[in-house]
Amino acid sequence: MPEYYWDSRTGKYHDRKTKRFVKKADVLNFLDRDINKTQGRMEDLARQLTNGRISLGVFENAMSEEMKSLHLRAGLLGSGGKNNVSSKAYGAIGNRLREEYGFLREFISEIKDGQMTSDRIVWRTGLYAKAAISTRSRAELIDRQNQGIVYAKRFLEPGANHCPSCPNYERRQWTPIEEIVPVGYLCECRRNCRCDIEYFLGNVSTLERSLGANIA
Ligand SMILES: [Zn+2]
Ligand SMILES: [Zn+2]
Repeated sequence: MPEYYWDSRTGKYHDRKTKRFVKKADVLNFLDRDINKTQGRMEDLARQLTNGRISLGVFENAMSEEMKSLHLRAGLLGSGGKNNVSSKAYGAIGNRLREEYGFLREFISEIKDGQMTSDRIVWRTGLYAKAAISTRSRAELIDRQNQGIVYAKRFLEPGANHCPSCPNYERRQWTPIEEIVPVGYLCECRRNCRCDIEYFLGNVSTLERSLGANIA
């Protein structure tokens, strides 16, 4: 997003010209478009593979490259860009990528077994793009915590058909940030998770006094 810049005081992207903040929905749409385009390229690779135009080795290398750059873009989007990403968030992006590489290797050996139809290979290949949703959320959570944010909330997507796990992660009250689970992580909807995390940017001692009063 070259026309936007990250402001750690507001915890938001802002438009370079107008200085107005960019809505979270627009940031997520930006990632969605990236995911859709990447998914298209990945499915093309799978079609080339099933048509016999490329080898499994070429497919695996090309997929690894797509995954690496997509997860990096998604993670940086969550962190506020390459000037703001912490080494801890970088590490989390790397771990996420290694995990996905492991899934890709298992997938490749299933393809080698020769039991999967071409359509299924194409469909499963495309799923690798959606995995970037949780990479963005995880990097965001780590870097907000790094910037000193101590409370957050997590909401379910209104009106959505939730997976069995997501309602357990909902936190409608301000909750210590380390107890918040990143979106798309440890749940069945994973790649389709549309839960939302909100970060507390106000005065912490005022909040803690009011939370204390609520508890008492
Ligand atoms: Zn879920
Ligand atoms: Zn969810």
